[in-house]
Amino acid sequence: MNTRPVAPLDIPPDASVVVLTGAGISAESGIATFRDSGGLWEQHPVEAVATHEGFVADPALVWRFYSARRQAAHGVGPNPAHHAVVALERYLEPRGHFTLVTQNVDGLHERAGSRRVLRVHGSLFHTRCDNDACPRATAPVRDEATYPDGPPSCPECGGLLRPDIVWFGEPLDPLVETRARHAITDCDLFLTIGTSGVVWPVAGYARLAYELGARTVLANLEAPVNVGYFREVYLGRASDVVPTLLAKAIQGVG
Ligand code: NAD
Repeated sequence: MNTRPVAPLDIPPDASVVVLTGAGISAESGIATFRDSGGLWEQHPVEAVATHEGFVADPALVWRFYSARRQAAHGVGPNPAHHAVVALERYLEPRGHFTLVTQNVDGLHERAGSRRVLRVHGSLFHTRCDNDACPRATAPVRDEATYPDGPPSCPECGGLLRPDIVWFGEPLDPLVETRARHAITDCDLFLTIGTSGVVWPVAGYARLAYELGARTVLANLEAPVNVGYFREVYLGRASDVVPTLLAKAIQGVG
């Protein structure tokens, strides 16, 4: 494993950069990751709250869970790692290319100011219809409400509304997936922050970048299972490591 002392990276202003983030970048904002708590997500088995089967079995429980997640995400803010990623995007804007691919659903990147964001696992603050035959199934709407008393119904078809989250066993939005893969195919630098590398298909993105010859860099608390696909590994807390890694590029970026 190519572990290195944390030091600023050289990133040319005309570089093509993809940043991939996971739950670890939001951990220090106060949002729990679930791998770190033994497969539970805020004390719930993942299957109960993050699969379609779980939703069908108990939609009220699932909506109570995501209502609590909405409240929790509202109550916290972006940390220095989110802000450093925003500054990197600004640094590359004039001459380079930047794409942020996030598995997070918490909206903290957008609140920090990130603009080119591909949310591959959906959004905590969007809701759509669970009925595939309904037009609202493919048209998520911004929704910050909480539903502690039962699942909301679709105004269009009367079916159940669901959080616009890509649950385990569900495919990614093909358009978002295609855009992510295109960006990775064209990148010089692939920087991954705070992900365990076990959730597919996103776990395969590091291998794609590596095999195409990109400079693959990891910033994570510990070595993930796919650590072999990173040419440079920097271990530590995202809010310490990421601002230091990006310091040279983002100095002077407003
Ligand atoms: P994960 O929970 O599987 O793994 C988190 C990784 O981050 C681990 O490798 C851990 O070592 C690392 N980590 C923990 N604290 C860190 C810190 N302070 N600094 C740097 N790294 C740290 O997360 P995942 O790989 O993103 O997969 C979980 C799935 O669950 C994702 O698909 C995501 O959609 C969802 N999820 C999202 C959130 C969120 O939106 N914030 C939170 C929990 C789960």
